[in-house]
Amino acid sequence: MAALELRHLIKRFAGGVVGVDDVTLTVGDGAFTALVGPSGCGKTTILRMVAGLEEPTSGAVVIGGREVTHLPPAARDVAMVFQNYALYPHLTVRENIGFPLKVRKTQGAEVARRVAHAAELLEIGALLDRKPAQLSGGQRQRVALARAIVREPALFLFDEPLSNLDAQVRAQTRAELVALHRRLGATMLFVTHDQVEAMTMAQSVAVMAQGRVLQEAPPMALYREPQTLAVARLIGSPSINTLVGRTTGERFEGALTCTTTAAPHGDVVLAVRPEHLVLGTAIDAAPATVLLVEPLGPESLVRLRLRSGDVVVARVAGEATCRMGDDVGVRVAAGEGHCFRAGDGTRLT
Ligand code: ATP
Repeated sequence: MAALELRHLIKRFAGGVVGVDDVTLTVGDGAFTALVGPSGCGKTTILRMVAGLEEPTSGAVVIGGREVTHLPPAARDVAMVFQNYALYPHLTVRENIGFPLKVRKTQGAEVARRVAHAAELLEIGALLDRKPAQLSGGQRQRVALARAIVREPALFLFDEPLSNLDAQVRAQTRAELVALHRRLGATMLFVTHDQVEAMTMAQSVAVMAQGRVLQEAPPMALYREPQTLAVARLIGSPSINTLVGRTTGERFEGALTCTTTAAPHGDVVLAVRPEHLVLGTAIDAAPATVLLVEPLGPESLVRLRLRSGDVVVARVAGEATCRMGDDVGVRVAAGEGHCFRAGDGTRLT
C-alpha cells in the first residue's frame, strides 16, 4: 500500500469552470479518507485526476512517493470502484472479478487463486458462476469490490459506491467496507455527498465546497469543532441551528442567549446543534412555540418558532412531552454553541 499526496491540484475546464481549486491533501499509508461535499464541489474531478482519467491544469499527484501526475491510468497502480459498478453483463462473476488480471496477462492459476481469495473476503464464493443480472444490488457492489481487490492496488478510489443500494444494504455494505479496509490495511479515498457515509466510515473527512477543501479532520472533531460556519452547516443532520446576534463580554445576545468565550463582536452567528437545545422552563429559557414534533423512536425532533421568528430544531431523547402548538421555553445547554463572524464565517470561539 502507499500514501497519496495531492499538491496544489487545480483543474480548470475548457470554458473557464474551475472544478478543483488548489487542493492539497494527504491520505496516509493504509488510511481511509472521505471527501464529502455538495454536488458539483469537485469530488469526482479529484478522483479522476488521481486515477489518471483527467489531466490537472496544475499541481501534482504523488502515490507512494512517486509523482504520477502525467502517467496513464494503467501505470498508477490504482483501483477505482464506481457508483454504477460497471460489471460486464455477458461475463460470469468469476470472469468479471478476474478480468483486470486477464488484461494484465496474469497466469491462469494465479488468477484463480486471487479470485478465490477476493470472493472469500467478500463472501460471494457461491455466486461465482452467475451473471450480473442474476445478482442483487448489494451483491453486484461486492463483485465490483472483489474486482478491485484482485489487483492488489497501491490505492483504492471509491466514487459514491453505495448510492445505488437501498438503505438497509447500504448500511451493511458500509460496515463491510470498513472491515475490509481493516483486513487489507489498504489506502482508500472515498467520495460521497452523504455525510453519514463519510462520518461513519472514514478515519479522516475532508469537507469540500466550490472546488476547495474547507476543513479536514477526524469525524467527531469535525462535528464538534467546525472551523467555519460553512463546515458547521454541511456536517450534522438535522442541520445545525443558526441565529444572528452579537457578543458582549462573556455572552452571545440574540434570539437566544448563552455564555461564550468569543471576544466582543457585532454581527455574530451562533450555531447550536439540535441536541444542545434544551426545552424547559428555566429562567434563562426563551419563549417559543412548538411547530412540529417528529418522533423517531429513540429520539424526537421538535421544531420551534422563537419570538424573533427564527425557527430552530431541538433533538430530545425518547418521546417529546410537548405537542404541536404548545408554548415552551428553550435554551442553549451550558458550554455549547459555536460563534462565527457573520461576514466570512470564521470561528470566534
Ligand atoms: P457530484 O456529487 O454531483 O458528482 P462532484 O463534487 O463530484 O459532484 P465534479 O463532477 O467534480 O463535482 O464537478 C466539479 C465542477 O466541475 C462542477 O461545477 C462541474 O459542472 C464541473 N465539471 C466537471 N466536469 C466538467 C467538464 N468535463 N467540463 C466542464 N465542467 C466540468
